[in-house]
Amino acid sequence: MDYLEGLNPPQREAVEHTEGPLMIIAGAGSGKTRVLTYRIAHLIHAKGIDPFQILSLTFTNKAASEMRHRIERLIGLEARNTWMGTFHSIFAKILRVESEKLGFPSNFTIYDTDDSKSLIKSIVKEMRLDDKVYKPNTVWSRISGAKNRLISWENYINDPYIKADDEAAMKPRMGEIYRAYQKRLFKSSAMDFDDLLFNTNVLFRDHPDVLNKYQQRFRYVLVDEFQDTNLSQYLITKKLAAVHQNICVVGDDAQSIYAFRGADIQNILNFEKDYPDLEVVKLEQNYRSTKNIVEAANSIIAKNKAQLKKNVWTQNDNGDLIELIKAASDNEEGRMVASTIFEEKNNKKLENSDFAILYRTNSQSRAIEEALRKMNITYKIVGGLSFYQRKEIKDLMAYMRYVVNQDDEEAFKRIINYPKRGIGASSVEKMMVSAYEHDIPLWKVINNAGSFLSGRAANAVADFSTLIKSFKMETERKDAYEAASAIAKQSGLLRELYEDKTIEGLNRYENVQELLNAIKEYVDNPENEDKSLGAFLQEIALLTDNDRDKDEVDAVTLMTIHSSKGLEFRQVFVVGLEEDLFPSQMMMQSREDLEEERRLFYVATTRAMEKLYLSYAITRYRFGRLLNCEPSRFLEEVDPNCIKVTKRKGRQLGSSSFGQQNTNGSEGKSGFIGLKRPSMRANTTAKVHTPSPDFKPSNTNNLMEGMKVEHPKFGYGKVLKVEIEGINKKATIGFDNFGDKTLLLSFAKLRIV
Ligand code: ATP
Ligand code: MG
Repeated sequence: MDYLEGLNPPQREAVEHTEGPLMIIAGAGSGKTRVLTYRIAHLIHAKGIDPFQILSLTFTNKAASEMRHRIERLIGLEARNTWMGTFHSIFAKILRVESEKLGFPSNFTIYDTDDSKSLIKSIVKEMRLDDKVYKPNTVWSRISGAKNRLISWENYINDPYIKADDEAAMKPRMGEIYRAYQKRLFKSSAMDFDDLLFNTNVLFRDHPDVLNKYQQRFRYVLVDEFQDTNLSQYLITKKLAAVHQNICVVGDDAQSIYAFRGADIQNILNFEKDYPDLEVVKLEQNYRSTKNIVEAANSIIAKNKAQLKKNVWTQNDNGDLIELIKAASDNEEGRMVASTIFEEKNNKKLENSDFAILYRTNSQSRAIEEALRKMNITYKIVGGLSFYQRKEIKDLMAYMRYVVNQDDEEAFKRIINYPKRGIGASSVEKMMVSAYEHDIPLWKVINNAGSFLSGRAANAVADFSTLIKSFKMETERKDAYEAASAIAKQSGLLRELYEDKTIEGLNRYENVQELLNAIKEYVDNPENEDKSLGAFLQEIALLTDNDRDKDEVDAVTLMTIHSSKGLEFRQVFVVGLEEDLFPSQMMMQSREDLEEERRLFYVATTRAMEKLYLSYAITRYRFGRLLNCEPSRFLEEVDPNCIKVTKRKGRQLGSSSFGQQNTNGSEGKSGFIGLKRPSMRANTTAKVHTPSPDFKPSNTNNLMEGMKVEHPKFGYGKVLKVEIEGINKKATIGFDNFGDKTLLLSFAKLRIV
């Protein structure tokens, strides 16, 4: 079979071992995803397995469609019929078919994170709780964490440990919010993202016949990026594979970066226990990157204690040394990155799409975007505020959602008085309250509004109901595109945007047109059998951030490291390598957190094929103020033989702002001269404080100027200033060994001494 020649011996072994459980744990770039792809091709082509019997779970839908195309290239169109997608998209499809067994209609709505948080906000308000204590974000992640560990609201409320935990966190009503939230979702015929997995588990647990059906259907189950599955996902795959046991998982413990969302590296370790016949394959040869990059990445990950030992090597050339870029400010960092891309493109005849710029947090993109724009370099941002999160898009989508499901409360709230039709907030609240207090479906309340609203408002609500009914009829008769166009026009939404002649207004109008184009594309695509509005909405609800970009334009990719998983680029910039930014201050409560940040750094560096740049700035605007930054401790962990400090200019600046000592433009192995300067080292690792044995963070609500405090990393210091900026309370503290630092009190762990 000639396609098998594209594999090395262990890869080939993994591809050919089709029966029984198999786990591949291997380093970055060693061909894990490639093995999955070839394995599916092999199952279909050589073993004659029906593609419908193969289920392949990937990290993004884009990864799935890429995999599908690769398989098609290997064996032809047959590959189309395999089940491929993210956990969420595959199991949403299954839930659509089986939802009635769980008491949901098949047209249930999928709430995105914004919808979930908005619902939580309403609930907190209705319960008359303080939304500064019960912040929608905090409540949402607490509930999400529970669901990912399969803790239902009933279990949550009855668990004494959880209760104690919430009480200690001064949030004793969390369980009640969780309960109210689930009830409201149910009433709205809606599931949030976590419910898609949670409810699949419930479905499989309570309906053995349904489980059996899917166990028979999916004779082969494959999971990519297994290290980042949570308990809920793990149990689903385990149950599905229980009969045939043909389960193949691939992953890299060194790339586990989603613990904060409930991913559990234990899944890798448990796998061996769950399947005593497990075959384990190791892949160690990296095909992606140069020797310098592979060795640098190895030196970084070696600092982590918790890891399975691997020896990643490559036959590729040494390649260029990694370049360390030091900038005077975040803006200069942006300019240096942009001008480097400009030069490299010219010198090496590269495309924009050969470059990626990776950062720890989305907000870092601003300075970089500005610089790229100034140099006319086309870029695209993956993640961040994406197309589908824009207000005008959410508004039109809310109309479409509501037409498909009239119980959808979040959609209702968005559109009931937009465009304005004279239905005030108090009328809306009256309708909602009667729906909840008397447990009447929202739609019924709307159609009886006359009985408790005043004449004018009641008429407006009646008009709204007529409008929705006419849209419903339209939707039943027509395809998604025709229905959506009618909704956009007749709701008045398009007119409202059209009449706004500002640049932003024009943009919004164009965005809505763009959404309609996307729907047209969906309808015209022969792969989509169901062309109804409901089917389109489901497809959209499940796009992950990575799926949303369009590939046609040649653009530099900007994204967070989290979304770069599994991808590769010829040249990669990892920016903002500064203490407190990366590793992130927010994530640094323990050794485990530091190790997760380090794995993130490992993921970032291993995206690069030919050339890697690491950069940091000496000053940066954060939280609305100019802060002095120290180079990240991670920079010192890179093998000095693989990296050099080079002189690069930010174009518009005209002059370089490198410090004297490390701007000698040294080509060759100059090692780490920039960082070994004593003054800089002093602040990174030399004197890091060891917290006192009785260290326990104090409540900082009453922190005042003049108090003495202990910080787990910076040691002892005196509070110089306490200030409130928006919702943030901050303190400037003069540390004995680390100088003045401004800390956000909601994150900083401080002990008042
Ligand atoms: P990650 O951990 O980042 O997800 P991975 O282990 O999934 O990486 P792949 O993306 O499958 O690695 O492979 C990395 C690169 O190496 C790809 O460009 C792939 O095509 C190439 N590659 C893998 N194995 C071989 C091989 N045997 N021969 C040639 N190229 C290979
Ligand atoms: Mg991969």
